[in-house]
Amino acid sequence: MKNDVNTILIKLVSRYVCLFFLLSFAGMTVLQAQSDIFERDRHDMVSSQIQARGISHRSTLQAMRTVPRHLYVPFGQRRFAYYDRPLPIGFGQTISQPYIVAYMTEIINPSSSHRVLEIGTGSGYQAAVLAEIVDQVYTIEIVSELGNTAKTVLEDQYDNVHVKIADGYYGWEEHAPFDAIVVTAAAEYIPPPLVDQLKDGGKMIIPVGSPFQVQQLMLVEKRGERTTTRSLMPVRFVPFTRE
Ligand code: SAH
Repeated sequence: MKNDVNTILIKLVSRYVCLFFLLSFAGMTVLQAQSDIFERDRHDMVSSQIQARGISHRSTLQAMRTVPRHLYVPFGQRRFAYYDRPLPIGFGQTISQPYIVAYMTEIINPSSSHRVLEIGTGSGYQAAVLAEIVDQVYTIEIVSELGNTAKTVLEDQYDNVHVKIADGYYGWEEHAPFDAIVVTAAAEYIPPPLVDQLKDGGKMIIPVGSPFQVQQLMLVEKRGERTTTRSLMPVRFVPFTRE
């Protein structure tokens, strides 16, 4: 009788062990297949949405092919991560359309020695793209929940990204001056502290205009005492808010 119970127990346990390994294997296969699908999507995104529209800066293209954009969007949005549009990331905010991220990256002409400030961390995706190219990225987010989520994802992948929860209007004085500043929320005017924290010869890209209306993406360039601004294209960004 005791032997029978033992045999049944052994059979049951071995069945569960087999089932466990089978399910783990199936799970791993599904995950593997998923990451492959995303890799192809990412390459397609770069050729059809970004190169096709004239972006040619090599390290920008390479960064856009590398950063797993699906890890920066909420889980329920993952299947749309490589679509040609912005996506909601919660708290009324959005992750920018891939082309806009590439455009804003190319225009500052980033290089491996640069220190870049970003205002509006949001999902962390633009910061990740910059971190692939430049030496150090400093990024500021005003919504603490978004900033903290992005910080977790970014710190897992990079050691050259620094996230701060604050009002980005004042920049990040301790790490200034910056080779470039990327502002990803639309301001009514260009914040003077950001111009002050730009290096001589530095570039800032910033959407300027009223909230929820069409704004102008502006390029600000600092040369000595002179600062020039140029309108690049009409855009629609979430508003630059103040504490
Ligand atoms: N770069 C982001 C885009 C996020 S949308 C990405 O790749 O996902 C713009 C972000 O700017 C929002 O998360 C918003 O909360 C933030 N923001 C708005 N005003 C801000 C301010 N004054 N300082 C810092 N962040 C601000």
